[in-house]
Amino acid sequence: MPAPRTRAARPEPLADDVVASGAEAVWIPSPLTGEPHHELPRSSADDVRDAVARARLAQLAWARAGFAHRERVLLRAHDLLLERREELLDLIQTESGKTRGQGFEELFEAASVTRYNALTAKKVLRGRTRRSGIPTVATARVRYQAKGVVGVITPWNYALSLAAMDVVPALAAGCAVVQKADDQGALSILALRRAYIDAGVPEALWAVVTGPASVVGEALTDEVDYICFTGSTATGRKIAEKAGRRLVGASLELGGKNPLIVLDDADPVKAAQNAAHACFSAMGQLCVSIERIYVHRKIAGPFTSALVDVLEHAKVGTGLGFDADFGVLASETQLARVESQFDDAVSKGATVLVGGTRLPDVAPWAFAPTVVTGVTPDMTLYAEETFGAIAALYLVDSDEEAIIAANASDYGLNAAVFSGDARRATRIANAIAAGSVNINEGYRGSFAAVDAPMGGQKSSGVGRRNGAEGLLRFVEPVTVAKSTGLLQLPRTAKEYEAQAPLLLLLARALRRLRRA
Ligand code: NAD
Repeated sequence: MPAPRTRAARPEPLADDVVASGAEAVWIPSPLTGEPHHELPRSSADDVRDAVARARLAQLAWARAGFAHRERVLLRAHDLLLERREELLDLIQTESGKTRGQGFEELFEAASVTRYNALTAKKVLRGRTRRSGIPTVATARVRYQAKGVVGVITPWNYALSLAAMDVVPALAAGCAVVQKADDQGALSILALRRAYIDAGVPEALWAVVTGPASVVGEALTDEVDYICFTGSTATGRKIAEKAGRRLVGASLELGGKNPLIVLDDADPVKAAQNAAHACFSAMGQLCVSIERIYVHRKIAGPFTSALVDVLEHAKVGTGLGFDADFGVLASETQLARVESQFDDAVSKGATVLVGGTRLPDVAPWAFAPTVVTGVTPDMTLYAEETFGAIAALYLVDSDEEAIIAANASDYGLNAAVFSGDARRATRIANAIAAGSVNINEGYRGSFAAVDAPMGGQKSSGVGRRNGAEGLLRFVEPVTVAKSTGLLQLPRTAKEYEAQAPLLLLLARALRRLRRA
Protein backbone atom coordinates (compact mmCIF):
# COMPACT_ATOMS: atom_id res chain seq x y z
CA MET A 1 0.00 0.00 0.00
CA PRO A 2 1.64 3.31 -1.07
CA ALA A 3 2.31 5.88 1.65
CA PRO A 4 -0.04 8.91 1.88
CA ARG A 5 1.40 12.15 0.55
CA THR A 6 0.17 15.58 -0.44
CA ARG A 7 -1.52 15.82 -3.81
CA ALA A 8 0.61 16.89 -6.78
CA ALA A 9 0.19 20.26 -8.50
CA ARG A 10 -1.18 18.54 -11.62
CA PRO A 11 -3.84 16.19 -10.30
CA GLU A 12 -5.43 13.58 -12.52
CA PRO A 13 -8.62 15.43 -13.64
CA LEU A 14 -10.89 12.41 -13.18
CA ALA A 15 -9.57 11.92 -9.63
CA ASP A 16 -10.88 15.41 -8.83
CA ASP A 17 -14.41 13.99 -9.04
CA VAL A 18 -13.80 11.98 -5.85
CA VAL A 19 -15.58 13.47 -2.82
CA ALA A 20 -12.51 14.41 -0.74
CA SER A 21 -12.13 17.70 1.14
CA GLY A 22 -8.52 17.21 2.31
CA ALA A 23 -5.25 17.38 0.40
CA GLU A 24 -4.08 13.86 1.15
CA ALA A 25 -3.49 11.55 -1.81
CA VAL A 26 -1.69 8.35 -2.74
CA TRP A 27 0.16 7.28 -5.84
CA ILE A 28 -1.46 4.34 -7.61
CA PRO A 29 0.81 2.11 -9.71
CA SER A 30 -0.15 0.58 -13.06
CA PRO A 31 0.31 -3.18 -13.51
CA LEU A 32 1.47 -2.51 -17.08
CA THR A 33 4.72 -1.00 -15.77
CA GLY A 34 4.75 -1.42 -11.99
CA GLU A 35 5.40 2.34 -11.82
CA PRO A 36 3.25 5.02 -10.09
CA HIS A 37 0.65 6.09 -12.63
CA HIS A 38 -1.68 8.66 -11.04
CA GLU A 39 -2.60 10.16 -7.70
CA LEU A 40 -5.87 9.46 -5.96
CA PRO A 41 -7.34 11.57 -3.14
CA ARG A 42 -8.28 10.11 0.26
CA SER A 43 -11.83 10.75 1.43
CA SER A 44 -12.50 11.09 5.14
CA ALA A 45 -15.40 9.69 7.17
CA ASP A 46 -16.89 13.21 7.13
CA ASP A 47 -16.64 13.29 3.33
CA VAL A 48 -18.60 10.03 3.23
CA ARG A 49 -21.30 11.42 5.55
CA ASP A 50 -21.43 14.59 3.47
CA ALA A 51 -21.77 12.59 0.23
CA VAL A 52 -24.59 10.51 1.73
CA ALA A 53 -26.42 13.64 2.94
CA ARG A 54 -26.21 15.25 -0.51
CA ALA A 55 -27.21 12.00 -2.20
CA ARG A 56 -30.24 11.81 0.08
CA LEU A 57 -31.46 15.20 -1.14
CA ALA A 58 -30.72 14.43 -4.79
CA GLN A 59 -32.58 11.12 -4.50
CA LEU A 60 -35.88 12.79 -3.62
CA ALA A 61 -36.03 14.63 -6.94
CA TRP A 62 -34.67 11.65 -8.91
CA ALA A 63 -37.33 9.31 -7.52
CA ARG A 64 -40.05 11.87 -8.28
CA ALA A 65 -38.76 12.37 -11.85
CA GLY A 66 -40.21 8.97 -12.77
CA PHE A 67 -39.28 6.00 -14.93
CA ALA A 68 -39.54 7.77 -18.30
CA HIS A 69 -37.02 10.45 -17.31
CA ARG A 70 -34.62 7.91 -15.83
CA GLU A 71 -34.92 5.74 -18.93
CA ARG A 72 -34.00 8.68 -21.20
CA VAL A 73 -30.96 9.62 -19.10
CA LEU A 74 -29.69 6.05 -18.79
CA LEU A 75 -30.06 5.38 -22.52
CA ARG A 76 -28.06 8.55 -23.22
CA ALA A 77 -25.39 7.23 -20.84
CA HIS A 78 -25.43 3.91 -22.72
CA ASP A 79 -24.66 5.74 -25.97
CA LEU A 80 -21.90 7.80 -24.35
CA LEU A 81 -20.27 4.62 -23.02
CA LEU A 82 -20.07 3.24 -26.53
CA GLU A 83 -18.83 6.56 -27.94
CA ARG A 84 -16.11 6.84 -25.29
CA ARG A 85 -15.04 3.21 -25.60
CA GLU A 86 -11.42 3.82 -26.58
CA GLU A 87 -10.75 6.11 -23.61
CA LEU A 88 -12.54 3.68 -21.28
CA LEU A 89 -10.67 0.66 -22.64
CA ASP A 90 -7.32 2.45 -22.21
CA LEU A 91 -8.18 3.16 -18.57
CA ILE A 92 -9.41 -0.37 -17.86
CA GLN A 93 -6.22 -1.86 -19.29
CA THR A 94 -3.93 0.62 -17.56
CA GLU A 95 -5.51 0.09 -14.16
CA SER A 96 -6.14 -3.66 -14.28
CA GLY A 97 -3.53 -5.19 -16.60
CA LYS A 98 -6.16 -7.07 -18.57
CA THR A 99 -6.13 -7.32 -22.36
CA ARG A 100 -8.15 -5.06 -24.63
CA GLY A 101 -10.44 -8.01 -25.42
CA GLN A 102 -11.17 -8.65 -21.77
CA GLY A 103 -11.56 -4.90 -21.21
CA PHE A 104 -14.06 -4.90 -24.05
CA GLU A 105 -16.07 -7.56 -22.22
CA GLU A 106 -16.27 -5.16 -19.26
CA LEU A 107 -17.44 -2.29 -21.44
CA PHE A 108 -19.98 -4.47 -23.26
CA GLU A 109 -21.34 -5.70 -19.92
CA ALA A 110 -21.65 -2.13 -18.59
CA ALA A 111 -23.55 -1.05 -21.74
CA SER A 112 -25.77 -4.17 -21.54
CA VAL A 113 -26.79 -3.62 -17.92
CA THR A 114 -27.43 0.05 -18.64
CA ARG A 115 -29.73 -0.72 -21.57
CA TYR A 116 -31.42 -3.54 -19.69
CA ASN A 117 -32.18 -1.55 -16.56
CA ALA A 118 -33.21 1.56 -18.47
CA LEU A 119 -35.75 -0.42 -20.46
CA THR A 120 -36.86 -2.89 -17.78
CA ALA A 121 -37.13 -0.94 -14.51
CA LYS A 122 -40.67 0.25 -15.16
CA LYS A 123 -41.92 -3.21 -16.13
CA VAL A 124 -40.50 -4.78 -12.97
CA LEU A 125 -41.15 -1.98 -10.50
CA ARG A 126 -44.43 -0.39 -11.47
CA GLY A 127 -47.25 -0.79 -8.95
CA ARG A 128 -49.57 -3.77 -9.35
CA THR A 129 -52.93 -4.88 -8.07
CA ARG A 130 -52.66 -8.07 -6.04
CA ARG A 131 -55.28 -10.63 -5.17
CA SER A 132 -57.40 -9.45 -2.26
CA GLY A 133 -57.70 -11.75 0.78
CA ILE A 134 -61.46 -11.26 0.95
CA PRO A 135 -62.92 -10.40 -2.45
CA THR A 136 -65.30 -7.43 -2.56
CA VAL A 137 -64.44 -6.42 1.03
CA ALA A 138 -60.94 -5.02 0.36
CA THR A 139 -58.52 -4.47 -2.52
CA ALA A 140 -54.74 -4.73 -2.38
CA ARG A 141 -52.11 -2.97 -4.43
CA VAL A 142 -48.32 -3.10 -4.16
CA ARG A 143 -46.12 -0.16 -4.95
CA TYR A 144 -42.35 -0.20 -4.93
CA GLN A 145 -40.66 2.57 -3.03
CA ALA A 146 -37.00 3.33 -3.76
CA LYS A 147 -34.87 2.49 -0.70
CA GLY A 148 -33.00 5.79 -0.66
CA VAL A 149 -29.19 5.90 -0.65
CA VAL A 150 -27.40 2.72 -1.64
CA GLY A 151 -23.78 2.10 -0.62
CA VAL A 152 -21.89 0.29 -3.38
CA ILE A 153 -18.51 -1.22 -2.49
CA THR A 154 -16.49 -2.64 -5.36
CA PRO A 155 -13.16 -4.44 -5.75
CA TRP A 156 -10.31 -3.72 -8.16
CA ASN A 157 -10.67 -6.57 -10.62
CA TYR A 158 -13.67 -5.66 -12.82
CA ALA A 159 -14.13 -2.13 -11.55
CA LEU A 160 -16.11 -0.76 -14.47
CA SER A 161 -18.56 -3.57 -15.12
CA LEU A 162 -19.13 -4.45 -11.46
CA ALA A 163 -19.85 -0.80 -10.70
CA ALA A 164 -22.39 -0.65 -13.51
CA MET A 165 -24.05 -3.92 -12.42
CA ASP A 166 -24.94 -2.45 -9.03
CA VAL A 167 -25.10 1.31 -9.61
CA VAL A 168 -27.28 1.31 -12.74
CA PRO A 169 -30.19 -0.78 -11.37
CA ALA A 170 -30.06 1.31 -8.18
CA LEU A 171 -30.38 4.50 -10.25
CA ALA A 172 -33.05 2.96 -12.48
CA ALA A 173 -35.07 2.06 -9.37
CA GLY A 174 -34.93 5.70 -8.20
CA CYS A 175 -32.16 5.39 -5.60
CA ALA A 176 -29.00 7.43 -5.12
CA VAL A 177 -25.57 5.83 -4.80
CA VAL A 178 -22.45 6.54 -2.80
CA GLN A 179 -19.74 4.23 -4.07
CA LYS A 180 -16.52 3.28 -2.35
CA ALA A 181 -14.15 2.49 -5.18
CA ASP A 182 -11.06 0.41 -4.56
CA ASP A 183 -7.90 2.48 -5.16
CA GLN A 184 -7.12 0.34 -8.16
CA GLY A 185 -9.87 0.74 -10.72
CA ALA A 186 -11.12 4.04 -9.30
CA LEU A 187 -10.32 5.97 -12.49
CA SER A 188 -12.30 3.50 -14.61
CA ILE A 189 -15.26 3.99 -12.26
CA LEU A 190 -14.89 7.77 -12.37
CA ALA A 191 -14.77 7.74 -16.18
CA LEU A 192 -17.85 5.51 -16.24
CA ARG A 193 -19.62 7.86 -13.85
CA ARG A 194 -18.67 10.89 -16.02
CA ALA A 195 -20.66 9.39 -18.90
CA TYR A 196 -23.74 9.17 -16.67
CA ILE A 197 -23.26 12.70 -15.34
CA ASP A 198 -22.88 14.02 -18.90
CA ALA A 199 -26.05 12.12 -19.79
CA GLY A 200 -28.02 13.90 -17.07
CA VAL A 201 -27.49 12.02 -13.79
CA PRO A 202 -27.11 14.74 -11.11
CA GLU A 203 -23.55 14.83 -9.68
CA ALA A 204 -24.68 14.27 -6.10
CA LEU A 205 -26.84 11.31 -7.06
CA TRP A 206 -23.79 9.12 -7.71
CA ALA A 207 -20.87 10.08 -5.50
CA VAL A 208 -17.54 8.25 -5.43
CA VAL A 209 -15.33 8.09 -2.33
CA THR A 210 -11.87 6.51 -2.03
CA GLY A 211 -9.59 5.68 0.85
CA PRO A 212 -8.87 3.07 3.48
CA ALA A 213 -11.62 0.50 4.07
CA SER A 214 -11.29 1.00 7.82
CA VAL A 215 -12.32 4.67 7.44
CA VAL A 216 -14.28 5.06 4.21
CA GLY A 217 -15.80 1.58 3.96
CA GLU A 218 -16.85 1.59 7.59
CA ALA A 219 -18.36 5.10 7.42
CA LEU A 220 -20.31 4.17 4.30
CA THR A 221 -21.79 1.00 5.76
CA ASP A 222 -22.79 3.01 8.86
CA GLU A 223 -24.85 5.50 6.82
CA VAL A 224 -26.61 3.95 3.83
CA ASP A 225 -30.05 2.36 3.46
CA TYR A 226 -28.81 -0.69 1.52
CA ILE A 227 -25.37 -2.15 0.82
CA CYS A 228 -24.15 -3.78 -2.40
CA PHE A 229 -20.85 -5.41 -1.65
CA THR A 230 -18.58 -7.17 -4.12
CA GLY A 231 -15.34 -8.59 -2.79
CA SER A 232 -13.84 -11.36 -0.70
CA THR A 233 -15.87 -13.73 1.45
CA ALA A 234 -13.97 -12.58 4.57
CA THR A 235 -14.99 -8.94 4.05
CA GLY A 236 -18.49 -10.00 3.00
CA ARG A 237 -19.02 -11.62 6.39
CA LYS A 238 -18.06 -8.36 8.15
CA ILE A 239 -20.44 -6.37 5.94
CA ALA A 240 -23.23 -8.88 6.61
CA GLU A 241 -22.71 -8.54 10.39
CA LYS A 242 -22.85 -4.78 10.15
CA ALA A 243 -25.93 -4.79 7.92
CA GLY A 244 -27.55 -7.24 10.33
CA ARG A 245 -26.89 -5.00 13.33
CA ARG A 246 -28.28 -1.98 11.49
CA LEU A 247 -31.17 -4.00 10.01
CA VAL A 248 -30.50 -2.79 6.49
CA GLY A 249 -30.43 -5.11 3.51
CA ALA A 250 -27.27 -6.19 1.70
CA SER A 251 -26.35 -8.13 -1.41
CA LEU A 252 -23.00 -9.88 -1.14
CA GLU A 253 -21.16 -10.99 -4.26
CA LEU A 254 -18.18 -12.94 -2.97
CA GLY A 255 -15.42 -15.36 -3.89
CA GLY A 256 -15.46 -18.62 -5.80
CA LYS A 257 -13.48 -21.78 -6.55
CA ASN A 258 -15.26 -22.48 -9.79
CA PRO A 259 -15.24 -25.97 -11.33
CA LEU A 260 -15.31 -26.97 -14.99
CA ILE A 261 -16.29 -30.51 -15.98
CA VAL A 262 -15.07 -31.92 -19.31
CA LEU A 263 -17.10 -34.98 -20.29
CA ASP A 264 -15.73 -37.78 -22.43
CA ASP A 265 -17.93 -36.80 -25.40
CA ALA A 266 -16.55 -33.24 -25.63
CA ASP A 267 -14.36 -32.14 -28.52
CA PRO A 268 -11.01 -32.06 -26.69
CA VAL A 269 -9.42 -29.25 -28.71
CA LYS A 270 -12.44 -26.95 -28.60
CA ALA A 271 -12.87 -27.71 -24.89
CA ALA A 272 -9.21 -26.88 -24.24
CA GLN A 273 -9.44 -23.56 -26.09
CA ASN A 274 -12.54 -22.60 -24.12
CA ALA A 275 -11.07 -23.83 -20.84
CA ALA A 276 -7.92 -21.74 -21.37
CA HIS A 277 -10.05 -18.63 -21.73
CA ALA A 278 -12.33 -19.58 -18.85
CA CYS A 279 -9.35 -19.99 -16.51
CA PHE A 280 -7.06 -17.17 -17.58
CA SER A 281 -9.11 -14.32 -18.97
CA ALA A 282 -8.13 -11.36 -16.77
CA MET A 283 -5.36 -13.72 -15.62
CA GLY A 284 -7.87 -15.58 -13.47
CA GLN A 285 -8.66 -12.45 -11.48
CA LEU A 286 -12.36 -12.72 -12.13
CA CYS A 287 -14.81 -14.04 -9.56
CA VAL A 288 -16.36 -16.44 -12.09
CA SER A 289 -13.04 -17.71 -13.55
CA ILE A 290 -12.48 -21.44 -13.55
CA GLU A 291 -9.95 -22.73 -10.99
CA ARG A 292 -10.72 -26.47 -10.96
CA ILE A 293 -10.90 -28.63 -14.09
CA TYR A 294 -12.40 -32.13 -13.78
CA VAL A 295 -11.70 -34.01 -16.99
CA HIS A 296 -13.01 -37.45 -17.78
CA ARG A 297 -10.13 -39.95 -17.84
CA LYS A 298 -11.07 -41.15 -21.35
CA ILE A 299 -10.46 -37.71 -22.85
CA ALA A 300 -7.77 -36.49 -20.45
CA GLY A 301 -4.83 -37.16 -22.81
CA PRO A 302 -5.99 -35.16 -25.87
CA PHE A 303 -7.63 -32.47 -23.71
CA THR A 304 -4.54 -31.90 -21.57
CA SER A 305 -2.11 -31.77 -24.48
CA ALA A 306 -4.42 -29.34 -26.33
CA LEU A 307 -4.69 -27.16 -23.21
CA VAL A 308 -0.90 -27.08 -22.76
CA ASP A 309 -0.48 -26.30 -26.45
CA VAL A 310 -2.97 -23.40 -26.35
CA LEU A 311 -1.34 -21.87 -23.26
CA GLU A 312 2.22 -22.32 -24.51
CA HIS A 313 1.38 -20.53 -27.73
CA ALA A 314 -0.84 -17.80 -26.28
CA LYS A 315 0.52 -14.26 -26.23
CA VAL A 316 0.74 -12.68 -22.78
CA GLY A 317 1.15 -8.92 -23.10
CA THR A 318 0.37 -5.39 -22.01
CA GLY A 319 -0.25 -3.53 -25.29
CA LEU A 320 -3.13 -1.06 -25.50
CA GLY A 321 -4.64 -2.82 -28.51
CA PHE A 322 -6.18 -6.16 -29.43
CA ASP A 323 -2.73 -7.73 -29.54
CA ALA A 324 -2.43 -10.06 -26.51
CA ASP A 325 -4.46 -13.14 -25.61
CA PHE A 326 -3.82 -12.82 -21.87
CA GLY A 327 -2.87 -9.90 -19.64
CA VAL A 328 -0.93 -9.64 -16.40
CA LEU A 329 -1.57 -9.86 -12.67
CA ALA A 330 -2.90 -6.63 -11.24
CA SER A 331 -0.54 -6.01 -8.33
CA GLU A 332 2.45 -7.15 -6.35
CA THR A 333 0.02 -8.49 -3.74
CA GLN A 334 -1.64 -10.63 -6.41
CA LEU A 335 1.72 -11.97 -7.57
CA ALA A 336 2.62 -12.88 -3.97
CA ARG A 337 -0.75 -14.62 -3.49
CA VAL A 338 -0.39 -16.67 -6.69
CA GLU A 339 3.24 -17.61 -6.00
CA SER A 340 2.47 -18.61 -2.43
CA GLN A 341 -0.21 -21.10 -3.56
CA PHE A 342 1.97 -22.29 -6.41
CA ASP A 343 5.07 -22.85 -4.22
CA ASP A 344 2.99 -24.59 -1.56
CA ALA A 345 1.48 -26.96 -4.15
CA VAL A 346 4.77 -27.77 -5.86
CA SER A 347 6.62 -28.27 -2.56
CA LYS A 348 3.96 -30.81 -1.57
CA GLY A 349 4.22 -32.78 -4.81
CA ALA A 350 1.97 -31.14 -7.44
CA THR A 351 3.12 -31.44 -11.06
CA VAL A 352 3.30 -28.40 -13.33
CA LEU A 353 1.76 -29.08 -16.74
CA VAL A 354 2.37 -25.61 -18.13
CA GLY A 355 3.51 -22.19 -16.84
CA GLY A 356 4.69 -21.71 -13.27
CA THR A 357 7.09 -18.84 -13.95
CA ARG A 358 7.16 -15.07 -13.71
CA LEU A 359 7.34 -13.19 -17.00
CA PRO A 360 9.48 -10.15 -16.12
CA ASP A 361 9.97 -9.25 -19.78
CA VAL A 362 6.22 -8.66 -20.07
CA ALA A 363 5.59 -6.73 -16.83
CA PRO A 364 6.96 -6.83 -13.27
CA TRP A 365 3.98 -8.76 -11.89
CA ALA A 366 3.30 -10.96 -14.93
CA PHE A 367 2.95 -14.69 -14.26
CA ALA A 368 2.49 -17.35 -16.94
CA PRO A 369 -0.93 -19.04 -17.19
CA THR A 370 -0.32 -22.14 -15.10
CA VAL A 371 -2.00 -25.55 -14.92
CA VAL A 372 -0.97 -28.07 -12.26
CA THR A 373 -2.09 -31.58 -11.51
CA GLY A 374 -1.70 -33.92 -8.54
CA VAL A 375 -3.26 -31.31 -6.22
CA THR A 376 -4.21 -32.75 -2.81
CA PRO A 377 -6.31 -31.47 0.12
CA ASP A 378 -3.22 -30.46 2.14
CA MET A 379 -2.34 -27.80 -0.47
CA THR A 380 -3.82 -24.28 -0.23
CA LEU A 381 -4.54 -24.47 -3.95
CA TYR A 382 -7.00 -27.33 -3.38
CA ALA A 383 -9.85 -25.47 -1.67
CA GLU A 384 -8.85 -21.81 -1.22
CA GLU A 385 -9.70 -19.28 -3.89
CA THR A 386 -6.57 -18.46 -5.92
CA PHE A 387 -7.96 -15.52 -7.89
CA GLY A 388 -5.18 -15.56 -10.41
CA ALA A 389 -3.13 -17.45 -13.00
CA ILE A 390 -3.40 -21.05 -11.69
CA ALA A 391 -5.87 -23.82 -12.49
CA ALA A 392 -5.75 -27.33 -11.02
CA LEU A 393 -6.58 -30.31 -13.22
CA TYR A 394 -8.11 -33.53 -11.82
CA LEU A 395 -9.18 -36.78 -13.52
CA VAL A 396 -12.63 -38.29 -12.96
CA ASP A 397 -14.16 -41.58 -14.09
CA SER A 398 -17.86 -40.79 -14.23
CA ASP A 399 -20.43 -38.01 -14.38
CA GLU A 400 -21.38 -38.72 -10.75
CA GLU A 401 -17.79 -38.42 -9.56
CA ALA A 402 -17.45 -35.13 -11.45
CA ILE A 403 -20.63 -33.73 -9.84
CA ILE A 404 -19.58 -34.77 -6.34
CA ALA A 405 -16.10 -33.27 -6.82
CA ALA A 406 -17.46 -30.03 -8.31
CA ASN A 407 -19.86 -29.59 -5.39
CA ALA A 408 -17.25 -30.43 -2.73
CA SER A 409 -16.42 -26.79 -2.04
CA ASP A 410 -17.44 -24.10 0.44
CA TYR A 411 -18.05 -21.89 -2.58
CA GLY A 412 -20.84 -22.00 -5.15
CA LEU A 413 -20.47 -19.10 -7.56
CA ASN A 414 -20.04 -20.39 -11.11
CA ALA A 415 -19.47 -23.72 -12.83
CA ALA A 416 -19.12 -25.02 -16.38
CA VAL A 417 -19.80 -28.28 -18.21
CA PHE A 418 -18.29 -29.15 -21.61
CA SER A 419 -19.98 -31.94 -23.54
CA GLY A 420 -21.08 -32.92 -27.03
CA ASP A 421 -24.49 -33.91 -25.63
CA ALA A 422 -26.65 -30.98 -24.55
CA ARG A 423 -29.06 -33.18 -22.52
CA ARG A 424 -26.28 -34.90 -20.62
CA ALA A 425 -24.62 -31.54 -19.92
CA THR A 426 -27.93 -30.06 -18.73
CA ARG A 427 -28.49 -33.02 -16.39
CA ILE A 428 -25.12 -32.32 -14.83
CA ALA A 429 -25.71 -28.56 -14.74
CA ASN A 430 -28.93 -29.18 -12.81
CA ALA A 431 -27.01 -31.09 -10.15
CA ILE A 432 -24.38 -28.39 -9.52
CA ALA A 433 -24.74 -26.11 -6.49
CA ALA A 434 -23.72 -22.75 -7.95
CA GLY A 435 -25.38 -19.45 -8.80
CA SER A 436 -24.61 -19.98 -12.49
CA VAL A 437 -23.67 -22.96 -14.64
CA ASN A 438 -22.44 -22.52 -18.21
CA ILE A 439 -22.59 -25.25 -20.83
CA ASN A 440 -19.75 -25.29 -23.39
CA GLU A 441 -18.62 -21.85 -22.16
CA GLY A 442 -16.70 -20.86 -19.05
CA TYR A 443 -18.62 -17.92 -17.66
CA ARG A 444 -19.66 -15.55 -20.43
CA GLY A 445 -23.03 -17.10 -21.17
CA SER A 446 -24.36 -16.29 -17.72
CA PHE A 447 -22.25 -13.14 -17.21
CA ALA A 448 -23.66 -11.58 -20.37
CA ALA A 449 -27.26 -12.65 -19.64
CA VAL A 450 -28.15 -9.45 -17.82
CA ASP A 451 -31.83 -10.45 -17.69
CA ALA A 452 -30.85 -13.47 -15.54
CA PRO A 453 -29.81 -13.30 -11.88
CA MET A 454 -26.12 -13.60 -10.98
CA GLY A 455 -24.76 -14.44 -7.55
CA GLY A 456 -23.45 -17.14 -5.31
CA GLN A 457 -24.57 -20.03 -3.14
CA LYS A 458 -22.83 -21.07 0.10
CA SER A 459 -19.79 -18.86 0.89
CA SER A 460 -20.02 -17.19 -2.51
CA GLY A 461 -22.68 -14.76 -1.41
CA VAL A 462 -26.18 -13.73 -0.56
CA GLY A 463 -28.63 -12.12 -2.97
CA ARG A 464 -28.47 -11.64 -6.72
CA ARG A 465 -27.55 -8.90 -9.14
CA ASN A 466 -28.96 -8.58 -12.69
CA GLY A 467 -32.45 -9.40 -13.91
CA ALA A 468 -35.61 -8.49 -12.02
CA GLU A 469 -33.94 -9.84 -8.86
CA GLY A 470 -31.19 -7.23 -9.23
CA LEU A 471 -33.71 -4.40 -9.45
CA LEU A 472 -35.92 -5.60 -6.61
CA ARG A 473 -32.96 -5.22 -4.21
CA PHE A 474 -33.39 -1.47 -4.32
CA VAL A 475 -37.05 -1.08 -3.42
CA GLU A 476 -39.32 -1.56 -0.44
CA PRO A 477 -42.57 -3.21 -1.48
CA VAL A 478 -45.44 -1.33 0.15
CA THR A 479 -48.88 -2.94 0.19
CA VAL A 480 -51.78 -0.52 0.15
CA ALA A 481 -55.04 -2.28 1.01
CA LYS A 482 -58.35 -0.45 0.73
CA SER A 483 -61.68 -1.31 2.27
CA THR A 484 -64.36 -1.18 -0.46
CA GLY A 485 -67.12 -0.35 2.04
CA LEU A 486 -69.38 -2.95 0.36
CA LEU A 487 -69.23 -5.31 3.33
CA GLN A 488 -68.11 -4.76 6.93
CA LEU A 489 -65.44 -7.09 8.35
CA PRO A 490 -66.26 -8.46 11.83
CA ARG A 491 -65.16 -6.48 14.89
CA THR A 492 -67.23 -7.69 17.85
CA ALA A 493 -67.70 -11.24 19.16
CA LYS A 494 -71.23 -11.30 17.79
CA GLU A 495 -70.09 -10.20 14.33
CA TYR A 496 -67.32 -12.87 14.34
CA GLU A 497 -69.83 -15.52 15.35
CA ALA A 498 -72.12 -14.48 12.53
CA GLN A 499 -69.48 -14.19 9.83
CA ALA A 500 -67.10 -17.08 10.65
CA PRO A 501 -69.26 -19.67 8.81
CA LEU A 502 -69.38 -17.38 5.74
CA LEU A 503 -65.59 -16.96 5.78
CA LEU A 504 -65.15 -20.74 6.08
CA LEU A 505 -67.48 -21.15 3.12
CA LEU A 506 -65.40 -18.64 1.18
CA ALA A 507 -62.14 -20.49 2.01
CA ARG A 508 -63.63 -23.79 0.77
CA ALA A 509 -65.02 -22.17 -2.41
CA LEU A 510 -61.67 -20.54 -3.22
CA ARG A 511 -59.91 -23.88 -2.66
CA ARG A 512 -62.34 -25.58 -5.06
CA LEU A 513 -61.81 -22.84 -7.66
CA ARG A 514 -58.02 -23.18 -7.13
CA ARG A 515 -57.84 -19.46 -6.35
CA ALA A 516 -54.75 -18.68 -4.24
P1 NAD B 1 -11.80 -7.24 -0.55
O1 NAD B 1 -12.89 -7.89 0.21
O2 NAD B 1 -10.48 -7.18 0.09
O3 NAD B 1 -12.18 -5.75 -0.95
C1 NAD B 1 -13.32 -5.42 -1.71
C2 NAD B 1 -13.71 -3.97 -1.42
O4 NAD B 1 -14.17 -3.89 -0.08
C3 NAD B 1 -12.55 -2.98 -1.53
O5 NAD B 1 -13.05 -1.78 -2.10
C4 NAD B 1 -12.15 -2.78 -0.08
O6 NAD B 1 -11.52 -1.54 0.15
C5 NAD B 1 -13.52 -2.84 0.61
N1 NAD B 1 -13.49 -3.20 2.03
C6 NAD B 1 -12.60 -4.01 2.67
N2 NAD B 1 -12.92 -4.10 3.98
C7 NAD B 1 -14.05 -3.36 4.17
C8 NAD B 1 -14.87 -3.06 5.30
N3 NAD B 1 -14.62 -3.56 6.51
N4 NAD B 1 -15.95 -2.26 5.13
C9 NAD B 1 -16.25 -1.76 3.92
N5 NAD B 1 -15.49 -1.99 2.81
C10 NAD B 1 -14.41 -2.79 2.93
O7 NAD B 1 -11.72 -8.02 -1.94
P2 NAD B 1 -10.64 -7.83 -3.09
O8 NAD B 1 -9.43 -8.63 -2.76
O9 NAD B 1 -10.48 -6.41 -3.43
O10 NAD B 1 -11.38 -8.51 -4.33
C11 NAD B 1 -11.19 -9.84 -4.67
C12 NAD B 1 -12.32 -10.70 -4.17
O11 NAD B 1 -13.56 -10.24 -4.69
C13 NAD B 1 -12.21 -12.14 -4.61
O12 NAD B 1 -12.53 -12.97 -3.54
C14 NAD B 1 -13.26 -12.26 -5.70
O13 NAD B 1 -13.75 -13.55 -5.90
C15 NAD B 1 -14.31 -11.32 -5.19
N6 NAD B 1 -15.18 -10.88 -6.29
C16 NAD B 1 -16.47 -11.34 -6.34
C17 NAD B 1 -17.29 -10.97 -7.38
C18 NAD B 1 -18.71 -11.49 -7.50
O14 NAD B 1 -19.48 -10.94 -8.28
N7 NAD B 1 -19.07 -12.54 -6.77
C19 NAD B 1 -16.82 -10.10 -8.36
C20 NAD B 1 -15.51 -9.66 -8.27
C21 NAD B 1 -14.70 -10.03 -7.23
